Amino acid sequence: MANASLVSAITRRLEGKVAMITGGASGIGECTAKLFSKHGAKVVIADIQDEIGHSVINSIGPTNSTYIHCDVTNENHVKNAVDKTVSTYGKLDIMFTNAGICDPPRPRLIDNEKNDFEHVLSINVTGVFLGMKHAARVMVPARSGSMISTASIASGIGGSSTHAYTASKHAVVGLVKNLAVELGQFGISVNCLSPHLLATPLAAKVCGTDDEGIEQLLNSMAILKGTTLKAHDIANAALFLASDEAGYVSGQNLFIDGGFGIVNSALKYPE
Ligand code: NAD
Repeated sequence: MANASLVSAITRRLEGKVAMITGGASGIGECTAKLFSKHGAKVVIADIQDEIGHSVINSIGPTNSTYIHCDVTNENHVKNAVDKTVSTYGKLDIMFTNAGICDPPRPRLIDNEKNDFEHVLSINVTGVFLGMKHAARVMVPARSGSMISTASIASGIGGSSTHAYTASKHAVVGLVKNLAVELGQFGISVNCLSPHLLATPLAAKVCGTDDEGIEQLLNSMAILKGTTLKAHDIANAALFLASDEAGYVSGQNLFIDGGFGIVNSALKYPE
């Protein structure tokens, strides 16, 4: 029979840790917030969807979690969210810069507007930069921490017709690599996750279909058959990277794509 401390280490892998999750009101972020909490972490959700964010906190339990209105493109918001996390829970161990949006697919670059392009980059890249910067402010003096970002399969391949999104996710990987080198000396790991398509509000907007349509689309593209990518698959990977078990993993871009990227160099969404 397994001893009690071993069972606890397996079932509560983030006991005593404090995590901030941007974009935690929906999709991957919401699922990760719930999983991190189940594993013993105090969780701060930083998002702009206040009503939904508060309802996620209510379902997790307000004693173990907090919602903070935070537009990740606004440095004051991000700074305040990090400061409030530290003043509420005493520290910040895990920063999950996950908030992101996608531009509508437009196959020809010439049909894309500068403002739309910059809007995607401001959330997907500047938002990640600001989250990392303000997490580092707290983690460097503590000489420990784990930073995780959500990139995408679009960080490794082209052809998706979402030019800003592809550029932004490649940029996230660049930030992760730079920061892993810079912060490793302080015992801080920096990694990102690259999921394939999965049914969330973001994917529904891009693909113009419902959850079932997205799952059918994903199934038609998948190499690994018999399963469909779900938010909990990404949350579980984030849990691993946030846990002490991943203590020596840094600078990595973990693809959660059922092997799709190995044989495909282009990603085509329906037009
Ligand atoms: P989602 O739309 O369900 O969640 C995104 C969250 O980010 C929302 O709660 C939204 O309010 C928040 N957000 C948007 N702009 C923000 C801002 N300026 N400040 C703070 N929060 C903001 O989508 P999701 O699919 O869960 O996306 C999460 C991450 O996963 C994104 O970075 C996305 O690019 C990435 N991703 C998604 C897929 C997919 O198919 N769903 C695949 C690969 C990567």
